[in-house]
Parts: sequence; C-alpha cells; structure tokens
Amino acid sequence: MNDRSDRTRLIAGATRRGHGRRPVAPPVERASTLLNDSPADMRDGSTGPIYGIEDLSAARELRLALADLEGAADAWLVPSGLAAVTVPLTALLRPGDEVLTTDAAYGPTRRFLKRHLAPRGVTTTFHPADADAGAIIAAINERTRVLLIESPGSLTFDMVDVAALTAACRARGVITIMDNTWAAGFAFKPLEHGVDVSVQALTKYVGGHSDLLMGSIAAVDPGVSRHIAETIEDLGWRVTSDDAWLALRGLRTLPVRYAEQARSTHLVAAWLQAQPEVADVLWPALPASPGHALWTRDYAGAASLVGVVMQGGDEAAAHALMSALELFGLGYSWGGFESLITHETGQLSIRRHRPALAGELLRMHIGLEDPADLIADLEKGLAAWRAARDN
Ligand SMILES: *Cc1c(COP(=O)(O)O)cnc(C)c1O
Repeated sequence: MNDRSDRTRLIAGATRRGHGRRPVAPPVERASTLLNDSPADMRDGSTGPIYGIEDLSAARELRLALADLEGAADAWLVPSGLAAVTVPLTALLRPGDEVLTTDAAYGPTRRFLKRHLAPRGVTTTFHPADADAGAIIAAINERTRVLLIESPGSLTFDMVDVAALTAACRARGVITIMDNTWAAGFAFKPLEHGVDVSVQALTKYVGGHSDLLMGSIAAVDPGVSRHIAETIEDLGWRVTSDDAWLALRGLRTLPVRYAEQARSTHLVAAWLQAQPEVADVLWPALPASPGHALWTRDYAGAASLVGVVMQGGDEAAAHALMSALELFGLGYSWGGFESLITHETGQLSIRRHRPALAGELLRMHIGLEDPADLIADLEKGLAAWRAARDN
C-alpha cells in the first residue's frame, strides 16, 4: 500500500477501513464519561479508551492518517499548532540545556522560548534567518540539546539545508525538531530527511477551512515518542472529536487544495514580481526567491503564502493597499480556502538580525478564488498604494 501516493492513501484510509455497511466518516463522539458493562471492565484499557481524555474514534483515525503521511509509527494531536511546538520542547529540554533556532521562528514559539523556558533555565540562541548550514552547525555548543528548525522561516521564508543539519546534529547528539507547517506534512517529509520530531499546525492546510485549531507531532525514536506521549498526558491536552472530525475531513482533500493553491500562487507571485511597486517576492518556488535551489531539491510542492517586499513606502501606504482590496480578507493565519493579507513590517523588529528589505513587508495568502480575479483585485490595491505614496 505504501507505494501508492499520499493523495491515494489519504482517501483509501477512509474507504478501506471497517466492515459491513457503514458511513465513510467516523462518528463524532462527544464524551467525558464512557460507560462499562461490568466493574471488571472499568480498568480494562485493551478494549478502547477508559475516559474521554483519551482519543475517541475521529481522533484515532486522524492520528493513523497523519502517522502514515509523516512516515511515523504514531502521531499525536494537541489543541493548537503552537502546542505542537511547545510539547516536544517541554518533553526534551532540562535546566541548563540550550535551544538553537532561527531568528525567523514563528513569533509565539519565540515568546515561549523567552517567557516560559528561559526562567526555567533553558537558554536560546537565534541564528540569522539566512545562515547556511555550516554557520548553523558552527553555533552548536556543548549545551545545545535541541535544534528547532523552521524552514521556510516565518515572514521572510528563508530555507535551510535540513539533511545537512540533521546529519551534523546526529553526530553531536543534538535532537532536531522541525516545524513543517509550510509543507503541511506533505510537500516535505522531515522524518525522511533525518529530523527527529516533525510538527505542524493542522490549523493551516490540513483543516483547510479556517474553522479549527490543532497541531500534530510525529517522531521516529521510541524513547523520544514516549517522552512526548507522557508530556501530553501530564499536561492534560486533548482535542475534541468535533475538531478531529473536521481535520480528518480536511485531510482527505489536502493534496488537491495544496497543489491548486500553489498553481494560483505561482501566477500571482510572478505577476507581483513584474510590478514596479514591488521590490521582491519571497516565495521559494519562484526562481528569483532566496531558497529556490533547496526548495527544488527537497520539496514536492509549495505553500500558498508569499512575502511581498514593496519598493519603499510606509505603514499608511500599506494600509491603503490592504483597504482597497475586496477579495483578500484582513486576518491572521493561512492555509484555508480564502485569500488573506497582513502587514508584517512591525513583526521584524523582534529579530536579533533584522533583514535589509527594500520597503514595507506584506504577507499574502492565496486561496481558492480564480487567480485572475485576485490579480485584478491587487491592481486596485497597487493603485491605492501609489495614491497614498504620492500624496
Ligand atoms: C500558525 C503557525 C503555528 C501555530 O499554529 P496555531 O494552530 O495557530 O497555534 C506554528 N507554526 C507556524 C509556522 C505557523 O504558521
């Protein structure tokens, strides 16, 4: 079965499970309490969950499908993408340890490292977002316990050579965790490239409809897996059956949505790059974008998320552009069916090593609308940008 593509296996997982006449989708079981036939059954975990904090049908099916996608023995679910990052860090780090990560790490991940882990004796070193593998490896010291990889990085979409990093980390006893939200567990397979722990925000492409938050964690080593499972148990995290059911539904169509949104993104990104108001388009699938060579070598697809560096401008011009758009929602997150835009220049101020950009930084998420309509909408946005800039 494993020689079939992800796209096929994600669907066969639904149609080839169970017996008799049955629904394609699992039931949504809402339960804290589960009733038993006899007192002796009450502590028998072999017949299924004992209490509703354990996974019920939809969550169990989702875990199986995600483990298959990641190439792992098991996958765990947590209530948000952020929790998918913080759980393995909590599980694997001890006072005195150091985390090495990119300056382009997802903002709330960075906040966790600073506000939660630092007072507990775990320090963090941030390498420049555009550092190459050699420079990152050179920053490993005897206290480095975890290398937290996020590639492409948030906002500026810098890429790193994951295989080179994991080989060096293995040799030095450093555990690698990769936030693979951009590739949706699908366009890049961290565990195949030597990463120890692969995490993603299912909130983004797997959910795919901007209506749930969830994260997943997958690991290969049984010892690492056990630490993660126990940490989730100790912290008391669980996901609801309703959310697991929605995520499972999203997962069935993930490859086609992802590929279609990438096709539209290519058209929009190429158009943007040709506009005089735009200095750079940060999207690794674009030949002119940083990271393109690594993306070509390692990736089977691209997320529909682009950084757009404007030619100069200011916040007022960026806001004028955003306000003129009719099809792009003004909202955070990404991976859903709808196009979104955010203004990100201010977010770069938390970095140790600020990138030298030609102007304001916008982030666009390209949804499933007709790309020709999105480009027409962006033309209106650029007209508003010019009016605000020349004002
Ligand atoms: C959105 C995001 C997360 C967090 O996901 P939530 O479900 O919103 O908590 C983590 N990492 C990356 C790279 C993200 O973009």
